[in-house]
Amino acid sequence: MAEPLVRTRFAPSPTGRMHPGNVRTALFNALLAWHHGGRFLVRIEDTDAGRSDRDAERALLDGLRWLGLDWDEGPDCAEPRGGARQSERGEVYADWYRRLLDAGHAYPCFCSAETLERNRQAQRAAGRPPRYPGTCAGIDPAEAARRVAAGESAVLRLRVPAQRRIAFTDLVRGEQAVDAAELGDFVIQRADGTPAFLFCNAVDDALMGVTHVLRGDDHLANTPRQLLVLEALGLTPPRYGHLPLILGDDGAPLSKRNGSRSLEALREDGFLPAALTNYLYRLGHSSRDDTLMDVAGMARVFDIARLGHAPARFDPVQLGHWQDEAVAAAPVRTLAAWLDADAPVPAAQREAFVELVRPNVRFPGEVREWAERLFGAVPEGDAAVLHEAGAAFFETAAGVYDEAGPDWRAFTTALRERTGRGGRRLFMPLRVALTGRGDGPALAEAARLMGPERVARRLRAAAGRAAGA
Ligand code: GLU
Repeated sequence: MAEPLVRTRFAPSPTGRMHPGNVRTALFNALLAWHHGGRFLVRIEDTDAGRSDRDAERALLDGLRWLGLDWDEGPDCAEPRGGARQSERGEVYADWYRRLLDAGHAYPCFCSAETLERNRQAQRAAGRPPRYPGTCAGIDPAEAARRVAAGESAVLRLRVPAQRRIAFTDLVRGEQAVDAAELGDFVIQRADGTPAFLFCNAVDDALMGVTHVLRGDDHLANTPRQLLVLEALGLTPPRYGHLPLILGDDGAPLSKRNGSRSLEALREDGFLPAALTNYLYRLGHSSRDDTLMDVAGMARVFDIARLGHAPARFDPVQLGHWQDEAVAAAPVRTLAAWLDADAPVPAAQREAFVELVRPNVRFPGEVREWAERLFGAVPEGDAAVLHEAGAAFFETAAGVYDEAGPDWRAFTTALRERTGRGGRRLFMPLRVALTGRGDGPALAEAARLMGPERVARRLRAAAGRAAGA
């Protein structure tokens, strides 16, 4: 039989904004599927109605598209394998609950929250790990069904086999095993009838034909339970791989407290999608290639065997490096879009302008700053540089520019001859006079774009400034 197609998924809960950890999980799942010519699914895990919201879902999907992780099946797709939102799959889960009840693999539990808490405290006091003691496991099914029908509140628990070792090979962490006795009969349906996370998550993976699950290792402890659920249902589990956490620069898990920013905030800062994907691709996945890649290129070489076991540290400096690479490679239109409509750069020169400043900028704010600097009000400039050159130098420069400009080469050659200044002593005062800064883009091209009138005006203004104060 042919190998089943690799099917992976990203299964976010729309309860908040995406952070680098979620983005990396989505990226790795997409890359794994696409590496094998398989399919990448998105499933919205919104069974927690109180915490899920549609705005968060929209932001999430928008973020994935922006990153270039357009899913093959899921929301907004003509999806062949059922709905994309768990909140719309209640009947599917109800059916599988019925099968578990009928087979005696699950039972209603009527224990109150107080009783459960008392049990837990007693177990802790006796030095045992807290787990459900099986109080309701022995209730006659007909009696239990009668109590449920009479409206008594109940959760549903999976009957965990007593003497079993549940072993699985984690795609990232290798062999894992746990004694079923350590788990206790766990909840698979909440008292309000909604499915518990580990139930619907596992059922959906199986029903949607998911073959591989890469997810954060905060879910590692759920896996043996999910394997038991699927075994009881007679469904085929995916293979699971648990990715080590991303840590902040203080060594604690990445969170708002140690500077983590949401995908939306990073996007608002001006990070380009290629910067984020290239950075996160290398965070916990070793790469032999240190050049900027597109998602298809990453998919070609993505390899589960290269996923690391150690927690990865989020490094803003590295992210900045990839932003520089992404800016260097971005289509000129992308960078031109960083300019506001009312930026002072003449429309016909916008693209030439962003090409000019491309090596000098990392974020949109810097492009705007250069636009103001070159085309807005005459910038102040470093007074010490202006004074050192002196008013006479700038007056001479203005005169020479009137004669030899706007040909920059002819202008600077003539100015060198007239003033005896060369190299840095010639160019630094010119740069400060024209741009207000001692560093920046190629001056000849900057002057060409600024146009002769502006250049002449700025040389005269510099003469005035050098003379004053
Ligand atoms: N909805 C879960 C989460 O966001 C999915 C976990 C999983 O990938 O299995 O954490």
